[in-house]
This record gives sequence, structure tokens and C-alpha cells, in this order.
Amino acid sequence: MILTVTMNPSIDISYPLDVFELDTVNRVAEVSKTAGGKGLNVTRVLAEIGDNVAGTGLIGGTNGDFLLQHLPQNTQAYFYEIAGDTRNCIAILHEGQQTEILEAGPTIAPEEANGFLHHYQSLMKATDVVAISGSLPAGLPTDFYVQLVEIAHQFGNKVVLDCSGAALQAALESPVKPTAIKPNNEELSQLLGREVSKDLNELKEVLSEPLFDGIEWIIVSLGAGGAFAKHWDTFYKVDIPKIEVANPVGSGDSTVAGISSALSHQVDDQSLLKKANVLGMLNAQEKMTGHVNVSNYDTLYNQITVKEV
Ligand code: ADP
Repeated sequence: MILTVTMNPSIDISYPLDVFELDTVNRVAEVSKTAGGKGLNVTRVLAEIGDNVAGTGLIGGTNGDFLLQHLPQNTQAYFYEIAGDTRNCIAILHEGQQTEILEAGPTIAPEEANGFLHHYQSLMKATDVVAISGSLPAGLPTDFYVQLVEIAHQFGNKVVLDCSGAALQAALESPVKPTAIKPNNEELSQLLGREVSKDLNELKEVLSEPLFDGIEWIIVSLGAGGAFAKHWDTFYKVDIPKIEVANPVGSGDSTVAGISSALSHQVDDQSLLKKANVLGMLNAQEKMTGHVNVSNYDTLYNQITVKEV
């Protein structure tokens, strides 16, 4: 089983408006509410490709109930209940633009953090790969994901970690390493405190820095440029065909789903990288965030090339 972890999920509310007017009332007719958070996108995509997937994380209040009732189909849910309310994230879609209002979410008490760690540990026996995505809610220490990685390793489980900022930094600096990370250019730049380009030689140099030592897979997603990857000491460039893009939001999460699935099925390097990219592309072709249409899988898969560089 692949276990996805979403520590700060949300109810994603979208308000489409013809015109968004400030300092007055805006009335909205078509409201859509979905269970959101990067980890839930990963969950949905894994279910869509037929993998055995379960989601965990923290939920609370009536929004937590809503989230449980609106989880992706064909998935199992092992969320841990906390006192605070699951947050709302609002996207106002107007005049071709998107204005977002994101709640910070609940602050987690120390006993809730401990309770979750025990709960998470109880899920490890049935798990082979853990996919951790997104930001940490307030109240959890910066090294909370390190603790999740450590517990997973005790059970021989692999971990794909998709986060940024201090939580990623802590994971890289810790002696316990995730199996795979998937930074994009922006996250790499933030991590290193300097602008990192998409130049292959520069990426090679960057990923060879001591900060990344001990991480089996580093997959730098490059949007329409495919991906650059390091597997132990081998570097790969993934080239992808040009596609018509409907909405690339969530492509990174779909890529994480592909990496997790490939690790679970223990495929070779080329197949792992192709699966990661084909799912990112299939997501970009859809309007809905974190959703893929598997009927196009083989066609796209066969157009992806992976070469050692
Ligand atoms: P993130 O959302 O984390 O920034 P990317 O935008 O790099 O991640 O997307 C992840 C993967 O999805 C890419 O490696 C690529 O395979 C695919 N993808 C994303 N955007 C596009 C695009 N515009 N055209 C083709 N493929 C894309």
C-alpha cells in the first residue's frame, strides 16, 4: 500500500466571477468545494492509475467531516482527528486571473503531534511507500517530516518527500534521508539561496553538492522541459513531447504519484522516470487539478525519452 500524508489539508473553494469588484459585495452562483491539499492530489492520481492507496494526515471540525466525505474514490482513509478546524482555501477566478485566499489552518498541540506519530506508526506495517506532500501546519516542529521518514525507515518503507523551505532543509540536513525528493527550479533556488537555472551542467553541479548526499533519487521537474534526475551517481535527462496544456496546477503532485507508484512496483530507472513524467503531463492536459485521464497513458509514455547525461 502507498500511504499519502497531508498534514494541513483544506477544503478548496472556487468562486468563479465575471468581474471581481473590491470594496463591495460580489455574489457567486456556482460554488465548487473539493477536498484539497497536495497529498490528496497524489492520492487521487494513484487511485486513478489503479494503485492501492490510503491517505492520512490531520483533520478536524465540520470541514474535516466534509473532507472525509469527499475523498478521492477507491482510496482508503486513515486521518487523525484534532481539535482545530480543517482550513478553507478560496480561489476567486475572475477575468482570466486567480486570486487566492488561503487560511493558515489549525495550530497543532504537542499531544496531537505525538498522537499522530503513534497513529502513523500503526499504519507502517501495511505500507511499502510513503508520499509526504505540502506544508506543515503551525505547532509542528520543522523536523516533523524527518520524524516521519525515520519511522518509515524502521519498517523498511521508502519515502517520497515533496515539500519546500525549512521542512525540506531539515530533511536534507538530517542523517535519515527520504528515498526521493522532487524539487522544481524555484524550490532548488530557495534551498540554495541563489538562482538555479535549467542548464543541465548547472543542475548536475547543484545536485552534486554535499547537501544532497545520501538521497537516492532527486528528480528536478522542469515543467514543459521534462525533468532532470539523479539516481545515486547516475544523471538522467527526461525529454517529453509538446502537448496541449489545459491546467498544469497539480502536475508536480502527479509526478510524485508516479515516483511513488514506480517505487512501489520496483521498476527500473527509465520506467520510473517515464511514469513520473507521463502522469505530470496527463495532469497538465486536464482542467481539473490532480486528475489524469489514463486512456492517453501509453501514447504519451512511448513518446518520452530518458537519456543518461
Ligand atoms: P511543479 O508543479 O512541482 O512545479 P512541474 O510544473 O515541473 O512541477 O511539472 C511536473 C511534470 O509535469 C513535469 O516534469 C512534466 O513532465 C509535466 N508538465 C508540467 N507542465 C507541463 C507542460 N506545460 N507541458 C508538458 N508537461 C508538463
